[in-house]
Order: sequence, then C-alpha cells, then structure tokens
Amino acid sequence: MPEYNLPKAYDFGSTEQRIYSWWEKSGYFKPSNDPNQPGFQPDQKPFVISIPPPNVTGELHLGHAMFVSMEDLMIRYHRMKGIPTLWVPGTDHAGIATQLQIEKALAREGLTREQVGRDEFMRRTWAWKAKFGGIITQQIRRLGASCDWERERFTLDEGLSRAVREAFIRLYEKGLIYRGPRLINWSPGLKTAVSDLEVEYSEEPGTLYYFKYLLANREGEYLPVATTRPETILGDTAVAVHPDDPRYQKYIGQQVIVPILGRHIPVIADEYVDREFGGGALKVTPGHDPNDYAIAQRHGLPVISILDEAARVNENGGPYQGQDRFEARRNLWEDVRLAGLTIKEEPYTLNVPRTQRGGEIVEPMISTQWFVRIGSLAEAALLAVKDGRVRIVPERFTKVYYNWLENIEDWCISRQLWWGHRIPVWYCEDCGQMTVARQDPTQCTHCGSLKIQQDPDVLDTWFSSGLWPFSTLGWPDETPDFEYFYPTTMMETGYDILFFWVARMVMSGLEFTGEVPFDTVYLHGLIRDENGRKMSKTYGNVIDPLSVMDELGTDALRFTLLVGSTPGNDMNLSIKRVEANRNFANKIWNAGRFVINALQQAPAKPEAAPDWTLADSWIWARLQTLVRDVERLFQSFQYGEAGRQIYDFCWGEFADWYVEIAKLQLAEGGDRTFYTARTLVWVLDMSLRLLHPFTPFISEELWGHLKRAAEAYSHNLAPTGGWSDALIIASWPEPRLLEGWEDEKVAQFNLVQDVVRAIRNVRAKKNVKQGHRIPALLVSESYSGILEGQKLALSQLAQLDPLHMTIQTSLPTKPEGYIALVVGPVEVYLPLADMVDTSEEYARLERELSEVQSQIQRLEALLDSAFAEKAPAPVVQKEREKLDAYRETAGKLDAQLAALR
Ligand SMILES: [Zn+2]
Repeated sequence: MPEYNLPKAYDFGSTEQRIYSWWEKSGYFKPSNDPNQPGFQPDQKPFVISIPPPNVTGELHLGHAMFVSMEDLMIRYHRMKGIPTLWVPGTDHAGIATQLQIEKALAREGLTREQVGRDEFMRRTWAWKAKFGGIITQQIRRLGASCDWERERFTLDEGLSRAVREAFIRLYEKGLIYRGPRLINWSPGLKTAVSDLEVEYSEEPGTLYYFKYLLANREGEYLPVATTRPETILGDTAVAVHPDDPRYQKYIGQQVIVPILGRHIPVIADEYVDREFGGGALKVTPGHDPNDYAIAQRHGLPVISILDEAARVNENGGPYQGQDRFEARRNLWEDVRLAGLTIKEEPYTLNVPRTQRGGEIVEPMISTQWFVRIGSLAEAALLAVKDGRVRIVPERFTKVYYNWLENIEDWCISRQLWWGHRIPVWYCEDCGQMTVARQDPTQCTHCGSLKIQQDPDVLDTWFSSGLWPFSTLGWPDETPDFEYFYPTTMMETGYDILFFWVARMVMSGLEFTGEVPFDTVYLHGLIRDENGRKMSKTYGNVIDPLSVMDELGTDALRFTLLVGSTPGNDMNLSIKRVEANRNFANKIWNAGRFVINALQQAPAKPEAAPDWTLADSWIWARLQTLVRDVERLFQSFQYGEAGRQIYDFCWGEFADWYVEIAKLQLAEGGDRTFYTARTLVWVLDMSLRLLHPFTPFISEELWGHLKRAAEAYSHNLAPTGGWSDALIIASWPEPRLLEGWEDEKVAQFNLVQDVVRAIRNVRAKKNVKQGHRIPALLVSESYSGILEGQKLALSQLAQLDPLHMTIQTSLPTKPEGYIALVVGPVEVYLPLADMVDTSEEYARLERELSEVQSQIQRLEALLDSAFAEKAPAPVVQKEREKLDAYRETAGKLDAQLAALR
C-alpha cells in the first residue's frame, strides 16, 4: 500500500483557483433540477437568490465580499441539503458611475460628451464595458461564489432592456407614469437629476446671514430672516411665520418687499416654521428647497426657478443673470448690505448635500421630469410585508420599511444621462403629442407625422434593478426559468438599500408579476474598521479584500466576515481576526494530516463489533449536538453563531482533545486502532461538511484528500451513504435522534477535562517545564473507576508520570509537600512544593516585572505629552492599549511574586 501523504501546510494560493475551476467545469453551480433539462421535476421547490448586481464599473470592496460570502453560504447549505439551488449573477450598468468614467477618459483627450455626440459616446461606453466589465465578476469568483454563470445577466442586455420597456409601457398605460415639473436633486456638474441615494451629506463650516424683509405698507418695520444661501432670495415667493407667534401675528396677510428685486410677496402662517431659528421668520423659496416647496404646495404659492442647468442665475435673477450661484451669493449679499438691509452674519455648520460621484453641491431645482405615481404600488408593497408574504430579517427593519413606504413620494425616474435605458417616448413636431411604444416607432401614432424625436433622457438605474429578480429569469416571457424559479426565495443585501432597492423590487414584483419577488429579505450590516469607524479613503482605514485574500486566503476572509456578523448589525473588522482564522485553517489542515496518517495505521477491517471508549462516545455525542445546534441556528439566520460553534468544536474539542487521546488509542492496535481511525475519519468528514459553506476551499481540498486516502486504504472507513464526487454536493449532516447514553458520557468526559485543566493551570502557575512529567494522586469515592479507565489519557494530557500516578477511593492522611486541588468530586494531589526552585523563579519574575515597569513609565510619559493631542487618534489609541496591556501584565507578575513569598 503506497503511503498517502498530505502536503505539510495548506497552500491556499495554489488551491483556490484550481478548486473553483473544477467546481465550475463540473457543473456544480447549476441547479440540480433544471426546467430546461430532461427529467425535470416541477414539484421540487427550489432555493433561489438573485445577486445584488454590483456596478459594472465596480472594484471589489468589503461590501461585496460580505454579501457574496453570505449568499454563497446560504446557497451551499441548501445545495448540500439536496434542494435545487439557483444563484443568478449579473451586473448593473450603473448610469452615473459608468458615464463619469467615460467622461473622464474623454476629458483626458480634451473632449466632452457633447463634442463627440451621443452615438460615439455610446460606442465608447460599450467598448469600455467589453474591456473592463468583467473585472468585478472575476473578483466575485475569487470569493468562491457558486453562481450559475451561464445565467449571468446585465441590466442593459437585450432581454433586460425589453423587460424595462415593457414595465414602462404597462405603467404608462395604467396612468401611473406622468411627466411634469417637480423639485428634484440636481447635479450642476453632471447636469442630471440624481436620486437621494446618490447624495451624500457632509458637515461643513458656513455662514448664517441675517437680513431684513421690509414690510410694504409699514414704514421702517421688518421681519428678520436668516438664510445660509442668500442667492435664493431671488426666488422667494413668501415669508412664513408660525401662526402662534405673538411677535408676528399682525403681519400675517401683509406684503413684504424682496430685497434688490423689489417684488412684493405675502407673509403667510405655517406651522412648519421654527420660532427659535434665526429671527423666527422663514423665507420661502419653493424653487430651490424641498421644505419650502411643500409649504408652497399647501399655500398655492408660485414657484420661481432662478438657476439654469449649470447652476448659473437665469433670467429671473435680475442683475445677477449669468452669474454662478456662489458668485451671485457674494454679489447679492454685498448689495443687500449697501441697501442697509443686513443685520448680522454668524458662523454656522452646514449639512451640505454633495453628489456621491461628482462631489459638487447638489441644488434642489424645479425640472420637468418623468415620475411614477407611487401610491398604489407602495400600498401593495406595504401589505405584502404586513400579511407576511415577505419576511424581513431582522424584524426591526420592518418598521423602517413601513415608515418609508407610508411617507413615500412619487418617484422621479428620468435622468439626463446617455448611458442607460432610453425613455420610450417620442414627441411629434407637428401635433405635439407623445407616442409611447414597445417597438421604436417611425411615425406619430396620432397624426402620422414622420417628424418625431425620442426623449433624450434615460431611466433611473433603480428602475431596471427593481425588475431584477424576474427580468433575469426571462420576464416578460413565460420562460421555463421564470415559471420554475420565480418567485425567488431570498433577497440578501445591506440594510442601507432596503428602500432604494428592496422596496422597489417588492413594488415592481407585485405590479408586474402579481407575486412578491422573494419570501425573505435578509439584511446584513455594514463593515467598519477595528475601532468601529466607517471605512473611508479620507481616514486611510479602508481594507482591500483582494489583498487580504492574497495574503491570508479567501477562506480566512470569508470566515471572519461570516462569523463576525449578526443580522442587521454593523461589524468591526480587524486584520488580526483574519489572521486568527488563517491559523484556524492551518489547524484544520494539520488535524486532517493526522487523520489521513492515522487511517493508514488501522487494519482494513475490524474483527468484532465496536467497543467505544469514553473519548469516542464523547466526541460523537458532541458532534451530534453541534449538528443539531447548527441546524437550529441556520433556521433562525444566526449564521455567525453557527460558525463560532463549528470553530469551537473543530479546534477546541476535536483537534485539542480527541486527536490527543486518539494518539494513545491508535497505539493499542487491532480493533481499537480501527475504530479510532474510523471515528477520526467520520468526525473530520462531518466537520468539513459543516465548515464547507463558511470555508469552501480548504474544506473541499482536505475532504478530497480524506476521501481518496480512505478509499485507497479501506472501504470500511467510508461514511454512511458513501463518498460523493465532491464535498460541494455531499449531503448536509442531518441531526440524529438522541440514543439516551449521550449526557452521561459527556458529563464523564467533562470531568476528565476539568481535572486536566486544573492540573495544567497549576503547572503553569508553578512554572513546571513543558514535557516534565510529575507524579499525581487522584482521590474520588464515586469516580475512581472512570478515572482508572482514563489513566493513560490523563497522564498524557496533564503530563503526569504514569508510573507514579495513583487513583484511590479515599485518603486517610494528606501527603506531605503536596498541593491539593478540588475538581468537583475529585481531589488531586501534586508534589509541586519539591518541584519548583522558587528562588530562581522569584528572580526571573522580578526581572520581568522591572522590564514591564519601565515600559509603563515610558508610555505614561508619552501619553502625558503633546503626542496625545497631535498624533492621529488611532495611533494614540494603540499606545493606550499597549499601556493597558503592560499594566495588566504587571498585575499578574505582582500576584505571582506574592504567591512565592
Ligand atoms: Zn403627431
């Protein structure tokens, strides 16, 4: 029999890609029950996830790593349970993000998109997509994602574009889409409307400007008004006061004069006014402020737009026409000052809205846009969660979902971009009517004129991603995929896009397919740095998942993300944790090497029925408990806790305890060796199955070795049901019924563990050298029999001298020079008084203590100095942590010295 040897260390670098290609080539990512294949069983319920499509411009970040790891875990678990699984991958065309990339490239050539024209711009964008669009999906593969790549989709591909047009036309025909002027977020740099999602708020220093709104008919009287944007005075159409404000009641209904422009506008009463802010009177600029816009709607005020699409003052701005908004701000304020209308200026912290992509300040503006009338769609989406057709995990986000949908406003779906789904509306030059059509028309449907022009705008990216769960399966056609895999099962995503995306998918799903698009929404949290701060380029604390995978392996990263997360809560990620999980992978590998080596020492088959040892029974019972607990935790979405328990079992129980005892059992020979090897093989096999959804690469690689070694050596070592072709499609461990013996065996073994731990503690405290075996006397009236049976194990694990180890039921007199330990029903006597040279030990501890104390003094001085104020907070924090650690060490050394005195 040739010896089967495993490489000494696990080399993830050479393993991951090889394993991934093999899985993909073998078709393991495809559903086991496929409506397009012979033998299809329509009654088997599948488990389906649509991937949240990353932007086609994307570079892998930790957010991607998180959702890919989590969804892959869910998919692998269900696949191993024998459920047909489908994970549909794809990418989003990401209107603004992609268009900006192309515009930047044009700018490097000194060109603008207007200069090259729409057709050339689109040609360049598609060329860019062809070249770089696959990067993000390659990176997702590196994470181990077991998606069905043959079903990969792109939001701008032909099928999805047809779905988008169908959805638009259906809404239009139902009267749910309209065009009109509304206040929207305008990006003057990008010259497009942007969604709330694309706006980021940052706190910045600014100024609050106080000035006088003179009453038209009361000489010398005025309302004091404060604003952070004086240029908006040009668009004021009222001044509002609180109806209960005694100071200003007499002015309600009167007219005031707009500074510089001299227009007369009314003073109105509205409860929105904050009496504490500024002078207690509010200028109302409905054309450039969402709250003012709402006030104008309530009071029927006119709306004046004062800026053009580049945020320059337009013809409504009198003398400031043509000036940039910030230039107009300075000039107007100077003129107000010269007119004697200013009161004061004070510093003020602004919450400035900036576009996520371009970075410039967003201007609320009135603009003619396309909207979806959202009322009936939102009501249906609310009901779907209220009546339980869609479940949100964790449940607390249900309230957030309700609150958002109950206050939702009509959805602005047009964007002034070129990259996206063009709005399928054509305007007629002759009759002025609109033609809205599924197929591009050649003439006006109203008058037959050939002079028609398509709307230049495109649809909001979220319009197409809202259709994602069903458009990717072939809708609007009733394809076999759509029939079988829709509605999907699970929508897993970050809680930050619950509204932008999840709610829209529920609305669209109900509207277009009559069904909810998924039964469950699982929301994961955001990933912060180890100190709980948001990762950002500004702080320099961004962790790049690709370099982490390069250095520590994909499994270590995945395990860290999965085990560190709980539904809906943010997690802090530190590289130290990833390193610890890389060590875990090595620990598993070493355990695997041991098992593969062990199975070759065993006879090919046993002579008799098994006679299990206490350790055999214990590890088996613990494994069964683990399988039950993991199942329960998976059912309640507590994947992190399940991972922690698997980790503790593999490392803390299997590798640290059972493997150590197995070494003794293997040496006994015969059936003991055979059954020990079989226990090792079976427990490792089950552990790797449980680990597989978390750490797919090392588990598959090691399991493959285990299988091949066991098959080469003896068929009697195969697990029940035999070995499958690959771990990825092996069966998930099913919980077994308890047989009744488990609790007793576990309790007995726990006692052995407690005794060993107690002896190890004393040895460490007394500084007994590793490997130095010491005599021991164990006394227990009721457990001496069990201890006697575990004598070898005890001596091995606690490093006792088996020739001088006595187990008794009672002890008439306490032996001289022995230390006594009480471990539950067992007393342990160790002759440690004679074993330790205390004077030498005392000197060693004192040397250590003095070194630690000098470090403490150094750090205390450092943290007392200017360093603590000037150095970056994380650096200071690190030094503080060092100081704390030294202080703790000093405390321990003190205690040890005291014990020796
Ligand atoms: Zn016409």
